[in-house]
Amino acid sequence: MMDAANAVNGATSEASPVSVRTQLVGPREAAKLASEKPGPTLIAIGGIHGNEPAGIEAALRVVGRLNKEDVDLHGELVVLRGNMSALMMKSRYRERDLNRVWTEKQIASLEARGDEKMIDEDREAKEILLAIRSAIARARGQVYLVDLHTTSAAGVPFVIFGDTLPQRHFCRDLPLPVVMGLEEQIDGALASFWTRQGCITFTVEGGQHDEPGSIDNLEATLLIAAESAGLFPRGSVKETRDAYRLLESRRGHLPRVMEVVERHAIKATDGFKMAPGFKNLDHARGGQLLATDKDGEIRAPKDGLVILPLYQGKGDDGFFWGRAVSEARLRVSERLRSLQFERFLPLLPGVERDARDPSRLVVNTHIAKLYPLDVFHMFGYRRIRQTEDRLTVERQPG
Ligand SMILES: [Zn+2]
Repeated sequence: MMDAANAVNGATSEASPVSVRTQLVGPREAAKLASEKPGPTLIAIGGIHGNEPAGIEAALRVVGRLNKEDVDLHGELVVLRGNMSALMMKSRYRERDLNRVWTEKQIASLEARGDEKMIDEDREAKEILLAIRSAIARARGQVYLVDLHTTSAAGVPFVIFGDTLPQRHFCRDLPLPVVMGLEEQIDGALASFWTRQGCITFTVEGGQHDEPGSIDNLEATLLIAAESAGLFPRGSVKETRDAYRLLESRRGHLPRVMEVVERHAIKATDGFKMAPGFKNLDHARGGQLLATDKDGEIRAPKDGLVILPLYQGKGDDGFFWGRAVSEARLRVSERLRSLQFERFLPLLPGVERDARDPSRLVVNTHIAKLYPLDVFHMFGYRRIRQTEDRLTVERQPG
């Protein structure tokens, strides 16, 4: 049966009073639901961007649902608040974007710094770090982490994840479009940091910030993630069926799996202007006008996908250029990777494994012109950085 009733917070007050498994844990941990039965730990975090409170609301709804007596709960579900000072101000961040600070270097420097030298976002990051570490320390199974976001532009909800096989499997059940290769373009994202710490993660963009439907989308996504992670037996919570239907209906005509082929990086001096009318994820025909800059028009090289076009605010990414990934291609790449075929990549001419970091390959582009970058994509090497004649391709471990 259930744990003894402890303190309850507002989110679970509608749940049956005899089945309370949540504890009021403080402002950072918005809710915690733990079963005496061992199982996975699922950490849901919302509001890493302070103008995106929908994720916290959605996660509390899932806690409310799973805190009922009919649920055969295993493991633990923890809900964390992200950038709390920015959430109060309803702004993305105060001094620093809390979804760009998660590199090993920045986290080490944060831990070495005295509290008096910290800005708001340092304190936020440190508390989140400690809260996630403590959830990992008491875990009795695999730890999963879902980072819940919303976007300024309207559009279909979608999922971003680092391309590792366990993460592909975790996202497989989600009927939302998934974009591979986007997370790897961003340095310091929360989810990729925790992937490197052994968690299985994804990030979801649930729709427009203030659209009430975005909370529904995020709630459905998290419920399906909880089922995939094994927090309750498959098929035993009937609302997950509604969640599938809801997300399926949101997807429209977009392919289920897409990948980033190229990042159109911009500088303030480029005079970059996106052509009007593109949604967050959108089809483009070969030759279609995508944007203009000081050098003229930028047109689609062939039929493909525009991903996250920049219409407002500042940023270094004008847009990402992508394409659909077929089921067949996914299966081939999974087969090759489970056979560890990537061991042979350093045998390709011009390719060497980085001696200091085995997750990275160094490519001499003079020699490696012979074959397309696709070869690396197949094996999950999606973090691509070009410096003169050297290219480094890197992937998440695992
Ligand atoms: Zn966000």
